[in-house]
Amino acid sequence: MTTVSVSQCESVSPHSNVPYGRQSIDDRDIEAVVETLRSAWLTTGPKVDEFESRVANFAGVSEGVALSSGTAALHAAMHALDIGPGDEVLVPTMTFAASANCVLYQGGTPVFVDVCEDTLLIDPQSVAARITPRTKAILAVDYAGQPCDYDALRRIANRHGVALVADACHSLGATYRGWPVGSLADLTVFSFHPVKPITTCEGGMVVTDRADLAERIRRFRNHGIATSHRERAERGTWQYEMLELGYNYRLSDLQCALGVSQLKKLPGWLEGRRLIARRYDQLLTKHDGIIPLSISPHMEHAFHLYVVRFEAENGRSGRDSAFDRLRRHGIGANVHYTPVHLHPYYQTRLGTRPGLCPIAEAAVENILSLPIFPDLAGEEVDRVVEILAFQSDTNRWVA
Ligand SMILES: *Cc1c(COP(=O)(O)O)cnc(C)c1O
Repeated sequence: MTTVSVSQCESVSPHSNVPYGRQSIDDRDIEAVVETLRSAWLTTGPKVDEFESRVANFAGVSEGVALSSGTAALHAAMHALDIGPGDEVLVPTMTFAASANCVLYQGGTPVFVDVCEDTLLIDPQSVAARITPRTKAILAVDYAGQPCDYDALRRIANRHGVALVADACHSLGATYRGWPVGSLADLTVFSFHPVKPITTCEGGMVVTDRADLAERIRRFRNHGIATSHRERAERGTWQYEMLELGYNYRLSDLQCALGVSQLKKLPGWLEGRRLIARRYDQLLTKHDGIIPLSISPHMEHAFHLYVVRFEAENGRSGRDSAFDRLRRHGIGANVHYTPVHLHPYYQTRLGTRPGLCPIAEAAVENILSLPIFPDLAGEEVDRVVEILAFQSDTNRWVA
């Protein structure tokens, strides 16, 4: 690994580095973890139950099952739906690879679906076009923190008798027509990775109103064993039965104690993210050619990401130069995402090729995720837009 000297950094960036996303940890979080560290249970104890019921309650459903990551939660969701060889799951291509990988873990086939141009959310028309008798589930991704069109997706799912799963790793705390994310699909998956709405360092959860599916997921995260260590201790028995093949996908009590503490602060953080988004929106109205993604009516956005599109001028998008420029100023702009079907693994394994999802393929050339997280200062937002705008005006002048 190469190291960059301080003076080199300072020559391009007098300010400290600003990432695109970052966790907020305070003394209350630290105390909650330390308290659990001194307690009897380090894993599969009371903090797991508490975190599960608090997140489920927040999401408007009855059941929560904590898992070791969002990816493990996606895998468990596919297992609970009995996805297996020969089964297809519709997945939008504009997402993180884990949304599709979970189908492959089960031996199923992800079928890639295109997104709507203005929101980059799964396009219900593309879903309807790619559904087949082998389709077993639709996996909707609340890209950037905006809920998908769940009414349209539910109609399609019901018409074809398939399950609806939400990859809500971006959208904890968002609402759709007043309904909280978590209550919109049969199974909803959250991630608690440090850049996500709340963190447990690593961690994830499936929430649902389906007690049968929750039970299946609890078993799956514990080797396929019907009871947990604590349940056996409470019943005074040593006996256990493994009923199916599972994994160790458990989340520890330390992590759940952090999660409980973080969740208390989420409403305030969501407000902070929405204020930052509004500030970006207002500043960007002065700069044609840099357009925030659209927000559909009746949505409360969680703004995990703030994504803009660069309009191409003379066939050239200003995105790449804006990206370089922000990075040179220590601002960690990013691009979310390389369409999953274009990753070399998928092209080799499933034979997916450019042309399969043209909207997503065009979008990835023009989008940029700008920094957004609860502790981001308003002046930093102003500085990001100044650097962006300088670039776009230069382009216009050159053109
Ligand atoms: C973060 C993320 C995941 C994976 O979650 P991990 O907790 O990192 O395993 C899955 N899908 C989406 C859309 C994500 O953003």
